[in-house]
Amino acid sequence: MAEKFRKFMGLCCSRKPVVTGEMGKDKYEEAIAGLQKLLSEKDQLEDVAAAKIRQLTADLEATAKKPFDPVERIKTGFGHFKKEIYEKNPGLFGELAKGQSPKFMVFACADSRVCPSVILNFRPGEAFVVRNIANMVPPYDKTKYSGAGAAVEYAVLHLKVENILVIGHSCCGGIKGLMSIPDDGTTSSDFIEDWVKICLPAKAKIKSTCSGLDFAEQCTNLEKEAVNISLGNLLTYPFVREAVAKKTLALRGGHYDFVKGSFELWDLDFNLLPALTI
Ligand SMILES: [Zn+2]
Repeated sequence: MAEKFRKFMGLCCSRKPVVTGEMGKDKYEEAIAGLQKLLSEKDQLEDVAAAKIRQLTADLEATAKKPFDPVERIKTGFGHFKKEIYEKNPGLFGELAKGQSPKFMVFACADSRVCPSVILNFRPGEAFVVRNIANMVPPYDKTKYSGAGAAVEYAVLHLKVENILVIGHSCCGGIKGLMSIPDDGTTSSDFIEDWVKICLPAKAKIKSTCSGLDFAEQCTNLEKEAVNISLGNLLTYPFVREAVAKKTLALRGGHYDFVKGSFELWDLDFNLLPALTI
């Protein structure tokens, strides 16, 4: 990934240091430094006390350096799900074993903070979810965007979902990336910029209507406007158009702000539904 993209994707997405155990890494370092200071003064300590401190220091260092174990994390996570959710809902999972009939198709960003099943409390079987960079729906294109097209086709024609919801979100790195593509359109990433250019028309609108706003505010507006482009792109799929015309399918846009803890919802006419601003 190009350097500038690392910068933009990282603006609000910087990784937090991994902390093991209950004590933060800083605390371990503090404790170890304190014990090492005591050890340096060990002439004044009894041998036994010095040995104990040495052992304690070694234990603390071993704990602090214990690497994150992804396999253990996966095992623990599935164990929790199986015990607390799967085994407690035999009726639900018995039904899901026969098939799925989700009411929603959802497009959400791949960002680790915006899982739609978490923020909208979807239970298994309730939402057919596609996640990608900046929650974009590309226009109908059988060669360029067959992955997205296959998902929309399956959801609409086979699952017969009744709703497609596209959810944008605050601090979206992909949207910042789109906002930052130079006016001459030059790109420096292998995939990301070409992907987010799907919503270039939204960027053009924001640049003309929000020129007085600062970069962060323009990005927030673009996060929402890009959702509208995706809703428009959905209508380039003939089977989506047909279902919307028959009123068997509704298209909606949403924006989740994880800084404020709010969710906005609007309909295909791009009118914000104030009653649905939570
Ligand atoms: Zn995002």
